[in-house]
Parts: sequence; C-alpha cells; structure tokens
Amino acid sequence: MASKQFIFLGPPGAGKGTQAATLAARWQVPHISTGDILRGAITAQTPLGTQAKACVDAGELVDDELVLDLMRDRFAQSDMENGWILDGFPRSLAQAEAFDHLLKTLKLARPKVVYFKVMTGLLIDRLLGMKRPDDTVATIRRRLAVYQEETTPLLEYYQQQDCVTTVNASLGLAEVANALRQLEHAEVSVTASFITDEAEFEGLLAQAQLLVVDCTATWCGPCKLVAPMMDRLAAEYGDRVNVFKLDVDAHKAVATRFKVKGVPLVMFLKEGELLESMAGVKPYPVFQAAVARWM
Ligand code: AMP
Repeated sequence: MASKQFIFLGPPGAGKGTQAATLAARWQVPHISTGDILRGAITAQTPLGTQAKACVDAGELVDDELVLDLMRDRFAQSDMENGWILDGFPRSLAQAEAFDHLLKTLKLARPKVVYFKVMTGLLIDRLLGMKRPDDTVATIRRRLAVYQEETTPLLEYYQQQDCVTTVNASLGLAEVANALRQLEHAEVSVTASFITDEAEFEGLLAQAQLLVVDCTATWCGPCKLVAPMMDRLAAEYGDRVNVFKLDVDAHKAVATRFKVKGVPLVMFLKEGELLESMAGVKPYPVFQAAVARWM
C-alpha cells in the first residue's frame, strides 16, 4: 500500500506548490499540481487546455468533471504507486467526494491532509509578488474569493475525517519546511480512523476480533479527550483489536441500533454483540483494562 499520500490544502499564495515540490523530490513521489497541468495544457493548446482556458484566465474553477477526468488519467499512471502529493486538488466538495470514490476503487488508503493556514493580509502581497504573467489583480482577488467559497468547506469535510494537520504557513519557507518534516514521522504513527461507510462497519462487526468503537460528535468537547486515548489503543493493540471512531451524527442508524444516548461513549463489540459500553471520559488504563478483558 502506498504510504506517502498527501493533499496540500490552502489558499493561493500559501506556498503549497513550493513545499510540495521540495518534499516530493525528497520522497521521490510525484508532485501533482492541477494548476500546472492545466497551464501546460493551455500553452500546448490541447483539447483540455482549450476547454479550461477561459476559467483559468478568469480565476474561476474549471469544471469538476474536466478536472476529475484529468486526475483519473493521472492516477492510472505507474509512478503513483509509492505515494503522491496533490497540490490544488481537490478544490470543491464535489471533487473531494469523487476523489474518495476513486481512492476506494483503486483500493488506496485515505490521504493525509496538510492545511496551510495563512493570515489573509499576507496573501494579496505574496500573490502580487509572485504574479504570473497572465495574472491581473482582479484575477488574484477572484482566485481568493473562489477559494473562500469553494475550498474552505473542504477543510471542514476533512476535519470531520480527522485527517488534517495544520501548518502555520504565515512563517517563512524554511520554517514551514521544518514543520512539514514532522509529517515523515506522523506518517508511521497509527491512529484510530473514522468509520465512513456502514458497509465497512458491518464487515468489522462480523469479525471475531474485538472491535472498539469510540462514538463521538464534532460538537462534543469531552470527545476530544477520548480521541487521543483511542489513537493510543490503536497504536498499542492495533494488530489484535480493531479500534475505530464513529461520528454519531453522520451515522444515526448505527447510533440508534446500539442505543447510543450520549457521547463520548466507547463500545466494545465482538461478532455483532455489544459486550460493554463506557460513557464519558475515563483514564487511559480503564480503557486498556477493558480491552484486556474482552480481547
Ligand atoms: P493554481 O495554480 O492551483 O492556483 O490553479 C490555477 C487555476 O487552475 C485555478 O485558478 C483554476 O482556474 C484552475 N484549477 C486548478 N486546480 C483546479 C481544480 N482542482 N479544480 C478546478 N479548477 C482548478
């Protein structure tokens, strides 16, 4: 399974492209910038370029289907096997959802998302400084506005999947590069991932192996204290026990079925049967003891 799979998310001018190029060279994985691919196609006057030109010139997003076709083709190439860094894709919720589907079809693990957080004031200056020949101030403004409208919801989408690492991209190039170096270590750490589809959940339930499900909700403060303990359980027992998180608002049917009344609630299940559930925040050894009891 490919391991270095990253999406770099952030506004234009955040420095994603520069950092992606450096890291990709170090990891020897492709750096895929949809912006570069589209600009290349426009220069070469390919059919893709002809279709994309008006939108790129105006700072608007190119049609989702066009970009998705482009990415499907790109993912069919053999150099994607050891990982990749995506820069500028996905750029809308529709693209993110279609991309999740593509990853599933290709049996690829979920990517990690790196969010480049920058103070807005800095962006205009930076963008004016690195203005491409075809950029105008109006295009730059439009690109930032489009980012706010289309791409900001993506951050929330990925945050719900608990796969976002934020870097302070207001800092200089070297400092950001330094922060990104941590990704190499983060990449090997095991965490409890979110159950995203119910078919997957049914499969896990049917297994004879102990299944630990941490029921959470995005609005729940105490859940944030339980989550790292679940990650620790996954790191310690992940080879013998399945540890997952479940967003109860996104999977109401599951919550109803197991009579989940409140969160945080950690359920211990085997072969579809609920063995025990623990409500509230408990010290880590309490969760650990429950795992030992039911394992
Ligand atoms: P970038 O170099 O990433 O800022 O992209 C430059 C331009 O290419 C954008 O303003 C869009 O017109 C277009 N573009 C790049 N990536 C995408 C995408 N994923 N979806 C739609 N349009 C895109």
